[in-house]
Amino acid sequence: MKNRWSESEASEYIVRFGDAWGEDLALRTYASRLIGEEAALVLHGGGNTSVKSTFTNVFGEQQPAIFVKASGHDLASIEPEGHAGLALSDLRRLRSVSELSDAAMVNELRTHLFDADAATPSIEALLHAFLPQKFIDHTHADAILALTNRPDGVQLVAEVLGDDVIVLEYILPGFDLARAVADAFDKKPEAKGMILMKHGLLTWGETAPQSYAATIELVSRAEAWLKKAATKALQPKQTTSPELARQRYRNLAPILRGCLAIPTQNADAPYRRFILQPLIGQPVLDLLDSDQGREVLLSPPLTTDHLIRTKPLPLWLDGLQFDDVDRLREQIVAAIAEYAEQYDTYYRRYAEAADEKLERLDAMPRTILIPGVGAVCVGRDIKDAGIVRDIAAHTLAAKAIIAASGSYEGLSEKHLFDMEYRGLQHAKLAAAAEKPLQRSVALVTGACGAIGSGICRELLANGCHVAATDLPGDQLESLAAEFSQEFGGRIIAVPLDVTDEAAVEEGFAQVIEAWGGIDLIVINAGLAHVSSLADMQTAAFRKLEKVNVEGTLHMLSESARHFKAQGTGGDIVLISTKNVFAPGAKFGAYSATKAASHQLARIASLELAEFDVRVNMVAPDGVFGDAKHKSGLWAEVGPDRMRARGLDEQGLEEYYRDRNLLRQRITAEHVARAVMFFATRQTPTTGATIPVDGGLPDATPR
Ligand code: ZN
Repeated sequence: MKNRWSESEASEYIVRFGDAWGEDLALRTYASRLIGEEAALVLHGGGNTSVKSTFTNVFGEQQPAIFVKASGHDLASIEPEGHAGLALSDLRRLRSVSELSDAAMVNELRTHLFDADAATPSIEALLHAFLPQKFIDHTHADAILALTNRPDGVQLVAEVLGDDVIVLEYILPGFDLARAVADAFDKKPEAKGMILMKHGLLTWGETAPQSYAATIELVSRAEAWLKKAATKALQPKQTTSPELARQRYRNLAPILRGCLAIPTQNADAPYRRFILQPLIGQPVLDLLDSDQGREVLLSPPLTTDHLIRTKPLPLWLDGLQFDDVDRLREQIVAAIAEYAEQYDTYYRRYAEAADEKLERLDAMPRTILIPGVGAVCVGRDIKDAGIVRDIAAHTLAAKAIIAASGSYEGLSEKHLFDMEYRGLQHAKLAAAAEKPLQRSVALVTGACGAIGSGICRELLANGCHVAATDLPGDQLESLAAEFSQEFGGRIIAVPLDVTDEAAVEEGFAQVIEAWGGIDLIVINAGLAHVSSLADMQTAAFRKLEKVNVEGTLHMLSESARHFKAQGTGGDIVLISTKNVFAPGAKFGAYSATKAASHQLARIASLELAEFDVRVNMVAPDGVFGDAKHKSGLWAEVGPDRMRARGLDEQGLEEYYRDRNLLRQRITAEHVARAVMFFATRQTPTTGATIPVDGGLPDATPR
């Protein structure tokens, strides 16, 4: 591992942060980022760093202080305020206490913060406080774990890292570990660092570059040894190509996602669903296909802070009948049931002995290892699943290296349980309350128009994962780029022409590959055309028929197949129109084809009810859009309609506003809210229509 410390970059940090935060915190921020940017050292909020300095209180007195990484901050992107300041002398006195519960420890940390609003410091904060050095770096480096997680780990660490380090047997992070670390240090203060078995590495120094250099040096020594010693690489018994694996995954994912969803006994929100993200690549496939794959990989996590993301064990799913869907489902159901049963046994074994009443966590696996497919990573949203995937990638690689140079040994079951059921750890994950559609995936057609983009925005704002689909092109790309700035990985662009059956199937498959399945389909793509019956060109009529009728049919057919495979119900919302109920003169092609699509959706509500799929319609009056997202439909028909009524654009908008009872301008947001009403299953309703038209008595479905 390369030492990336640069004096010139360090000075830039001092220039940038020195005045407001002081040189110590400026350098702490720089060195923490260097560590955080190295995925082989820490992943996603793992690891923690600190610096001891002073704090000027309101009396102008200089007080000894420690600044420790606070929870909720990631070292890779940490800002100076990411290290919370605490009264050092008070924390150090705690070393003399013989026992301190987690709750009491957190209370001590919170009551000794200098900033009452600061986030709670890491559960390893006392460990930092008890050590005397100014700068402390704590990581969960892959290479160090690849030495410690073995039956002969203690000897191996001594052999590879020598006298420069102190070795400490595993202790649950918190007060006891902090004291043990301080005691061990006192016996060997000349050491460069400390190895926490099956947990990670600690280094220290009087300056930031000293401590950072010690981390890099020790990790490099471990890496060099591993490189030489890893001679018995696991050999695959067969080779699965990533293309084949991906194809299998597309078929299997909805079934798997359906089986993982946890029933809630609430018909309006019947499942707690998960989002899936696959890890498919040749090295992973070869590892899973190897003789020892199961033995090596079906094992506890590398370090404790992975546990709340990954559960104590992955699920190993082999011998699957990929070509027989019914058999495949049976196999998955049986494997998940067995996993849940084993989890339950594990839980009961330790929960009974626990001194406090625990709240049992769900028994669903978070990493599913499938030979011939890859690793499937499970989370409550894509961010969560992405973290699990990164952890899985590092875990699989590290375990493979260990197997190639010895054998793997993770934490004992008791230690796993203590860490999994630790309130403090879960505080890390609890964060904000879940949004209503956080665990859901939607596919929206015609996403680039005013109504389509409005629906996408509303769904995204409510936590949903949204596949924006439309004809391929720049418009679709820029829509996704615009939304991804605000909503991150929860938006993808999927080019999809609804008139092409194969394209619809491929579009669904792409969404399934990205997130595991789909829960909400919004059929919004549509075309309009202005012509009297006397002047109607058959070709123009057919063009509308293709998109409005056949397009809707393709979407409904594919949705039906998907929802049946996934087996956890679903919702379909068709964006209909007030014209279905109150057609307009010279609007025959539009009114008739939309009426056909409306009728198809009603049929879908009849056919799919037994699968708990609700199909409903939203019938808006004309929506004009805004400067950014023009209504495509209006671009096409606006000028004709204006001419037909002898009005300009402004006048036409006013005309539409004034003709409804409420004299309201209808916006995409209004339509989107009606979609949300159905998407969040507010009422047990299917086959119904909500008019969004300000009140047009002749267009009100009765
Ligand atoms: Zn740690």
